[in-house]
Amino acid sequence: MNQIKRVVIFGGTHGNELTGIYLVKKFDRAPDLIERSTFETIAMLANPKACEIGKRYVDTDLNRCFLRQDLENTHLSSYEALRAQEIYRIFSSTKAQKSDLIVDLHSTTANMGITLILAVQHPFNLSLAAYLTSVYPELKIVASVTSNQDSSALRSISEWGFTLEVGPVAQGVLDARLFQQTEEIIGTMLDWVETYNQGTIAPIKSPLTIYQTVRAIDYPRNEKREIQAMIHPDLQFRDYKPLNPGDPMFLTFDGESVLYEGKSTVYPIFINEAAYYEKGIAMCFTQKQIVSQLAIDSWPVVRAVPRARPFSV
Ligand SMILES: [Zn+2]
Repeated sequence: MNQIKRVVIFGGTHGNELTGIYLVKKFDRAPDLIERSTFETIAMLANPKACEIGKRYVDTDLNRCFLRQDLENTHLSSYEALRAQEIYRIFSSTKAQKSDLIVDLHSTTANMGITLILAVQHPFNLSLAAYLTSVYPELKIVASVTSNQDSSALRSISEWGFTLEVGPVAQGVLDARLFQQTEEIIGTMLDWVETYNQGTIAPIKSPLTIYQTVRAIDYPRNEKREIQAMIHPDLQFRDYKPLNPGDPMFLTFDGESVLYEGKSTVYPIFINEAAYYEKGIAMCFTQKQIVSQLAIDSWPVVRAVPRARPFSV
């Protein structure tokens, strides 16, 4: 069994997501909160310049800068591209100084509660997710479709990395309840890693629900790429709820409903996420999967979904 040697908790990958930023600052002041006996824990700001100016990024989205070809491209010069290369040099799993587990803290304006987004579906990740949902039944698990090699997200530079996404909270705003819940979950996660290192993990009996990302959906737009409709009020804040064929998705500025015309039920997340207007994403469709304990024990490392659009947060 591979032991976890180091956990790196990143906050401020996006400089206007304050929960992670202020948690990292807190852990910096009180490192004993994240200290455990069998591994080292580091907390750090991923994008310090963006945090300083309180914006998502300086030049470009840092959480889209970790594609392998970009990390090796010496011609890139944006602040975030260079920062990503610096982070990769220090923490990449392939380097001698190995970072075994990266936890990347984010917040969303969507009503997603607390969500764990897994970089890959590996028995290690799935066991951790199953344990956390047994302690926090309201916690949601999302699996990204990309392999680490194809992912541009920070979490992907460690084999079992994951993102902790909390919301709804506005950009540039702290929510005390979400802050405390996130801190508690990080503590529980670190305790679990300690148990894992000691080889005393108890199997979880209950099945695990995973929301597998399928594709991102854009707003209806005209030929000038201008948005022609808003998220329908019946869909707003209904992240993780079923969206059935014929259900309203958007409302035009003239009050006309635009319906979901897909053939099967999906479970949208990141509904009306503020940061995704510039990316052309109104929501992300997921499919709900129930994973049994047996499957957690024998799950393949990566499950690819055909024709899926890479999606990272
Ligand atoms: Zn973010």
